[in-house]
Amino acid sequence: MLKVLKFGGTSVGTLERIQNVANIIKKIKDEGHDVIAVVSAMSGETNKLIEYASHFAKKPKDIELDMLLSSGERVTSALLSIALNEQGYESISYSGREAGIVTNDEHTKARIEHINTDKLKVSLKKNKIIIVAGFQGVSSEGRITTLGRGGSDLTAVAIAGAIKADVCEIYTDVDGIYTTDPRIEPKARKLDKISYDEMLELASLGAKVLQTRSVEMAKKLNVNLVSRSSFTPEVEGTLITKEENIMEKPLVSGIALDKNQIRVGMYKVKDTPGIAASIFTALANANINVDMIVQTVAVDGKTDLDFTIPTADLEICQEVMKVFENDVENIDYNEDVCKVSVVGVGMKSHTGVAAKAFSAMAKENINIRIISTSEIKISMIIDEKYAELSVRALHDVYNLDK
Ligand code: ADP
Ligand code: ASP
Ligand code: MG
Repeated sequence: MLKVLKFGGTSVGTLERIQNVANIIKKIKDEGHDVIAVVSAMSGETNKLIEYASHFAKKPKDIELDMLLSSGERVTSALLSIALNEQGYESISYSGREAGIVTNDEHTKARIEHINTDKLKVSLKKNKIIIVAGFQGVSSEGRITTLGRGGSDLTAVAIAGAIKADVCEIYTDVDGIYTTDPRIEPKARKLDKISYDEMLELASLGAKVLQTRSVEMAKKLNVNLVSRSSFTPEVEGTLITKEENIMEKPLVSGIALDKNQIRVGMYKVKDTPGIAASIFTALANANINVDMIVQTVAVDGKTDLDFTIPTADLEICQEVMKVFENDVENIDYNEDVCKVSVVGVGMKSHTGVAAKAFSAMAKENINIRIISTSEIKISMIIDEKYAELSVRALHDVYNLDK
């Protein structure tokens, strides 16, 4: 079998752990498989580099950030390859560019356009273990790009899809996908399987165990994706797969939490046709990902407009909002909120799921500020101080530990 393995930051966080990863790879190689391993930077490294950059500039150029941040994964890939070679296993490390990963030029959040797998195939033919530095590629202008935070997951899935690997195993510090973050709710239960769509919702709603775009890509290219642990590699992980491969469809499969949310309140907005269009067009043009939106019923020709944005977009949002200052009484930004969400394909065909969520909140006296729903999810904006409590309450009300 051809296996693409990915090892996250914690899994390569120390030299001992890099050796542990080498041992996992050696074992898989000894079992007769071909291996391409994608690695992240050592844990904390990417944040440290961002910190360094911010010492010199409030907003460094994205192109320079990419040059800087991509170095973290190159360090680990080379170290891992050095270790394997020394231990009698032929291996070679590649940067994203060398691995043939071509992206667009949206620096710091580049999209993969295609992968030229020639070099990878030649090395596989020579029976080498290939180590690829995750999170990065090269633009058509020949500059180094990065794929957004958590982007090594995407590198692994994209390579697995392009080279038609039999499986893509994402090794991290938990042994699979749980009904919620096991660090918040110790009673969380590990799932054997989860559908691409549910995983996509969980990831985009804050469960960082897999990067959203990697799940999107896995679905598109039909990659057999497995989430498992490098600390307990003998334990089987969770398979992320097509909905039809899952026999038993639970009503609710998981709870996600996202603390990186800001609630923007625009009070007494002039209630004229076109005002919402101009506000949200301006936000879209600034590349701000607006999530939940509510508008209250107008009183005296004025209405309140509330919406949420990712914390990272606060400054750009404030900049954009300057244009509208004359159309509103005031605008406030509340950072002390979070978004808690219930995800499950079973919701499509069952009623009462939302009511249950709201009563779980009511029982804990948690005020829900904004609600939004889709076919397979219910999201609520609440005060951040209730974040963990709300996750546990929801986990409980749907009996997810059973
Ligand atoms: P890596 O550094 O390996 O990429 P991440 O820190 O990005 O790992 O993701 C792993 C973490 O995701 C876990 O430590 C866990 O706290 C968190 N997590 C959040 N939601 C879930 C979930 N539903 N199942 C498993 N882990 C989850
Ligand atoms: N090192 C990058 C990050 O911390 C990419 C990754 O680990 O997947 O976001
Ligand atoms: Mg990650």
